[in-house]
Amino acid sequence: MSGPLPPGSRVDPETRDWETQGMALPREYESLGSFDADWHPSSQEVKRQAEMEAIAAWARQRAMEAPPLSERQKDVIRRSMSERPTPDELMVWRVRLFCGHETEKKAHRTHFTVQNALYSGGRCPTCGLEPATIVAAKAMHLASETEEAPPPGPPRPSPSQPVRRPTRAELEIDVVALRERVAMLERESRETEVRPE
Ligand SMILES: [Zn+2]
Repeated sequence: MSGPLPPGSRVDPETRDWETQGMALPREYESLGSFDADWHPSSQEVKRQAEMEAIAAWARQRAMEAPPLSERQKDVIRRSMSERPTPDELMVWRVRLFCGHETEKKAHRTHFTVQNALYSGGRCPTCGLEPATIVAAKAMHLASETEEAPPPGPPRPSPSQPVRRPTRAELEIDVVALRERVAMLERESRETEVRPE
């Protein structure tokens, strides 16, 4: 059952080993690329962005053709979404995107490589480029280091408030969990599609 391959797809044997077998992780977080002010995309980075755009178009097409999720699949997604990492399990990465804009992304702290930690195809929050490949990344600190600090001044919600709204940090963690899940599913589907010669 070999379906059409996404352009530029490849198998990364390390991904599966580290994530599923709990093998020895590198002690240092990988860093990638340059945050210099005079950075311009290299020809390799331009090529990667074009590949990512082709993959995104391919994935959209496949998603439209795919049958609706079964109840069992929906249940798996619901359960995995409820397993939210806490801020002290999340590493904050400084990221530069293909458009040159910088942003922060969070990933589970056990992901030490850029490829495993970061979903390189999201939307640039500044200019809206989507997909936007990552051209530079550097692990900064755990999310708990900034999120534990008390906010300056805003009043605490009164106990009489009937519905507790999720904080911005909690919502961001939801998004991180979803992105990680989507990236994992994409990797799995690519590995399933790529058959060894
Ligand atoms: Zn941008």
